Amino acid sequence: MKYVVGVDVGATNLRVGIYTLGCELLKSTIVKTPTEGGPDRISEVIYEVSIKLFNVLGLSKGQVVGIGVGTIGPLDIKKGEVINTPNLPIRTFRLREPLMRLFDNDRVFVVNDCVAGVWGEKLFGHGLNYGNTVYLTISTGVGSGVIVDNNLLLGKDGNAHEVGHMVVRYDDSLRCSCGGVGHWEAYTSGKGIPRFVKYYVEKVGSTRGTALRELLLSNSLSPEKFFDLVRGGDGVANEICNEICKINAAGLANIINAYDPELITIGGSVALTNYELIIRPAINYLHIYTINRVPEIKPTKLGNEVVLKGAASLVIKPPKNLLEIYGIP
Ligand SMILES: [Zn+2]
Repeated sequence: MKYVVGVDVGATNLRVGIYTLGCELLKSTIVKTPTEGGPDRISEVIYEVSIKLFNVLGLSKGQVVGIGVGTIGPLDIKKGEVINTPNLPIRTFRLREPLMRLFDNDRVFVVNDCVAGVWGEKLFGHGLNYGNTVYLTISTGVGSGVIVDNNLLLGKDGNAHEVGHMVVRYDDSLRCSCGGVGHWEAYTSGKGIPRFVKYYVEKVGSTRGTALRELLLSNSLSPEKFFDLVRGGDGVANEICNEICKINAAGLANIINAYDPELITIGGSVALTNYELIIRPAINYLHIYTINRVPEIKPTKLGNEVVLKGAASLVIKPPKNLLEIYGIP
């Protein structure tokens, strides 16, 4: 029997899954993404975790067809490396070359995590019958993977469609973690929400929303606590949540206007846990911002496995442009 290794390299967690050629998950493990070590440390951990999984499953390295990796960016896709990521203390790390060496396998595919996600969605999720589809994640950050006319979009370095850094408000002073102003991710991502709430409360200077103020003063506002307040009926929290919906609508509209998709699937912990609060109402605002016909929009079929399964799917059916980049026939 032959198998595939799927890898999801996140800013916090690293997941490795062993898949059949039909993309059925046999077993997976989550470990913390290494925060220190050399540029090959993350690849070494991926290899160590994989070997443990092989041992549990009674598999050998020789049965592996290939290794697919979906990773935080930005990427140098030709080298299969992550370059100067703001989200991990090991800012630059190598994936493709060390994984090829460790696994003794040339079929190592490295793409941005959302790019892996949209490929998985196309092969095994809601995207099956669509040639034009976008996978959007709203989690720690905001990102997307895009397929237009059945082609997976990659860009010159593999960093096409960094939609989290699309400008959704040009005249605010709230800065994104990348340093830019008005970026989508700065408002509605897990990392952005607490900072946006603080910014909003200070700007509006509202005397209401005592619970919010207390959380802000004690520096303990998390997205979870914020959405608890929204659900509990807190007035200011609901006002801000409505702003978040409008901002998500602006971001989604940019995607619709730029790529003209038939389907947008949405994943990521912030979006999936709060879909009724921050996505469903956002869809109602779309008509304000779109020129293109509004597509079908729904949660990803693959849940929180979307990137891992997507990474495995890169090996099962590699995108032709990725094969060209690596010179694999
Ligand atoms: Zn940014």
